[in-house]
Amino acid sequence: MSDELDYDNLLARAYSNIPEEDRIGDVRWAVPVIDLMYEGRTTVWKNFGDIMDTIRRDPVHVLGQILRSMGSAGSQEGRRVVFKSVITADKLKEKLDEYVTTYVICGECGKPDTHLVKESRTQVIACEACGAKRPVKVKKGLTAKEARTVINVGDELDVFIQDVGRMGDGLAKIERYTIYVPGVAKGAKVKIKVEKVSGDLVIGHMVGKRPV
Ligand SMILES: [Zn+2]
Repeated sequence: MSDELDYDNLLARAYSNIPEEDRIGDVRWAVPVIDLMYEGRTTVWKNFGDIMDTIRRDPVHVLGQILRSMGSAGSQEGRRVVFKSVITADKLKEKLDEYVTTYVICGECGKPDTHLVKESRTQVIACEACGAKRPVKVKKGLTAKEARTVINVGDELDVFIQDVGRMGDGLAKIERYTIYVPGVAKGAKVKIKVEKVSGDLVIGHMVGKRPV
């Protein structure tokens, strides 16, 4: 074997050992492949901590959403999760992908460089890459508790006016509801009283500024 071949071989091997995300010019982002281990009837998610490092979300929130969505019991133990049942990697990946799509990926530019903020009871994904801010769009069944919010006439709500409608009304969103608040400008944070609810449409009037 010539020295030259040897060198090419070494170079190729060295390159293949560099993690994908460190390769210059490669901007792809990927969640690590889920690594599971089975112990009798329990499932150990070995690289939960590594995946949390990648998606940069509160492990308690992530695990809570996944457990609820799967209807399974489990708990975090250090950087691992122990499920009290047999969970397949495919099923878990499906739930993790749902979480990432809902709570991590920017709906505007598709990048994962985001963080969660709370505005008027709504979770908002704020994107560090493009500056977009969008309410988290929870799919049915993913966070049943949050999606169950019911707004009734007479309720007082703290809302953030995120837009202005064609008729000049301020618009706010709480989960599936669109809330019209006449005479309030975009960007205002106000307390409203609900006057009318029709399906997903709510009409309210301002009763005060929202405490900051
Ligand atoms: Zn973005």
